[in-house]
Amino acid sequence: MNIKNSAREHNAHLIEVFSAIQGEGLNVGTRQIFIRFALCDLRCHFCDSAHTWNIPTKCRIERNPGLRDFENYSNPVPLEKLLEWVQQQNAPFIHDSISLTGGEPLIHAPFLIKFLPLIRALTKLPVYLETGGHRPQQLSQVMPYLDLVGMDWKLPSVSGENHWQAHKDFLQLCYESKLEVFVKIIVAKNTELADLQKAGELIGAVSPHIPVFLQPVTPLDTATGSITQITILPPSPDQVLAWQALMKGFVKQVRVVPQTHKMLNQL
Ligand code: SF4
Repeated sequence: MNIKNSAREHNAHLIEVFSAIQGEGLNVGTRQIFIRFALCDLRCHFCDSAHTWNIPTKCRIERNPGLRDFENYSNPVPLEKLLEWVQQQNAPFIHDSISLTGGEPLIHAPFLIKFLPLIRALTKLPVYLETGGHRPQQLSQVMPYLDLVGMDWKLPSVSGENHWQAHKDFLQLCYESKLEVFVKIIVAKNTELADLQKAGELIGAVSPHIPVFLQPVTPLDTATGSITQITILPPSPDQVLAWQALMKGFVKQVRVVPQTHKMLNQL
């Protein structure tokens, strides 16, 4: 996370840019141009993107939408190049939106403040932010340029991370600013009821109309998966039914959706 201040506004630290079908949350099934940023300040036990935790020497850029014809470029990437690559992906009528993902995109708030107004004007596509939802200060800086936010709330019993207050402040900020937002919660066999209860209470206190997605954890391939030795098992059907019923005591829309892009063999 050692990005020199002078370069932060005009250079992106990327993992990849590509076109694919969104597999999670409110946008599930839609086609997006994904911009995956490097760096994450969390270390979730279930992380399937540990390769994003550091800045790689090279990032990979898909030349044509969906063809997986990647070319490698050195990091960091000048803002103008990223504009060019995203616009190159933006073939007529294909995409529904641009997804900012990671890692944690809000680590790059100084860059996003410069980049987002330009990419919106260029592509005319809505911008979706996929975030851990624990950086409200950075959210407030980029909020004017966002159309939808997906927060990935971290239950301590599943993720090993604890950010209740930051999650609540972040959600409150979205709600008060009338920015469309949903909450995704990854659940596993070892999910503690007290964690779900607390999440339900906090979300419902902001608004019972905020959509919540319970996402059963995808078992990790031990060869490529998390660096932790902690075994994260998916929940049983009974657990999922009980947890959905519990959450519906706090919020009106609670959907249980696994990671569908992995079923479709998308990236
Ligand atoms: S926030 Fe996302 S990228 Fe970061 S450790 Fe957690 S799952 Fe991995």
